[in-house]
Amino acid sequence: MHALVKAYDKPGLWLDQVVLPRIGPDDVLIEISKTGICGTDMHIYAWDEWARRTVPVPMVVGHEYAGKVVEVGANVRKSLLGQRVSGEGHVVGNQSRAARAGRFHLDPQTQGIGVTIPGAFAEYLCLPAFNVVPLPDSIDDEIGTILDPLGNAVHTALSFDLIGEDVLIAGAGPIGIMSAAVARHAGARHVVITDINPYRLNLAAQVADVVPVDVSREDLADVMGRLGMKEGFDIGFEMSGAPAAIEQLVDHLVMGGKIAMLGIPSRPATVDWTKVVFKMLTIKGIYGREMFETWHKMLAMLASGLDVRKVITHRLPVSDFQSGFEIMREGSSGKIVLNW
Ligand code: ZN
Repeated sequence: MHALVKAYDKPGLWLDQVVLPRIGPDDVLIEISKTGICGTDMHIYAWDEWARRTVPVPMVVGHEYAGKVVEVGANVRKSLLGQRVSGEGHVVGNQSRAARAGRFHLDPQTQGIGVTIPGAFAEYLCLPAFNVVPLPDSIDDEIGTILDPLGNAVHTALSFDLIGEDVLIAGAGPIGIMSAAVARHAGARHVVITDINPYRLNLAAQVADVVPVDVSREDLADVMGRLGMKEGFDIGFEMSGAPAAIEQLVDHLVMGGKIAMLGIPSRPATVDWTKVVFKMLTIKGIYGREMFETWHKMLAMLASGLDVRKVITHRLPVSDFQSGFEIMREGSSGKIVLNW
């Protein structure tokens, strides 16, 4: 089958022929229809320090996908055959304390499809049946493909009670933008999103009812004044990984404010911890999803009016994957979907 492979220990990806995955008794085989390019894939494409340390070569990459179950293992119920699905890309063990307590997202033995085990940028994917998430008819494959990053946004946004709260989001990448849409859907009062990329701020305003702020041109204090806010934001989402943005979040939160952090700084970043202490801030690290509870919440929100389709800005055949990665690197895109 065709697959996008990290074939060599150097930057790039290669559209190669690889052997069809063979499924075990607890797995399903998914025929992939669409995949999404993630920031993680960009790291692997660029072959930065994190990627070199984490990804064994060769590796079929990719973890955002939708498709159809075409084969089931001996222990898997036959009714899954033909089902349209997406799925959780973290494959967990069942030995750790956390996993045995049902907190699968905290299992230290977790493997990532398309990162440490073969991924979804391929005609077929082998996935444990446990990880499969059936798609309702109301969710097409294109939306199915972005449920993985939407899940990151939902996990971040629902970390704290948002009803009636003022939310500051640092970073208008696709996940930042989707977290804004979720915050709005979940009942926040003001939702302000910051970036220094005009394309992405403009996209944010198209996807969600938010106040976009270019922090290279406008002062957040002025924005707060305009909105009639007196003390600061109640909740912050850190979606940028930019040290300056983290500082800005800390500075513009109220006493006792809360921060959910998903952005990954490319190098150790300094924070003025004195401010964190005296403002009595709560900081929560976010990775992946709280597995199936997050999947449940996002499918429920999509069924009740959450609309993030406009975050998809490019649709390309997989043969054009190279331009997809280049467009994404320039920062002039939302989500990019590859058709298989
Ligand atoms: Zn992803």
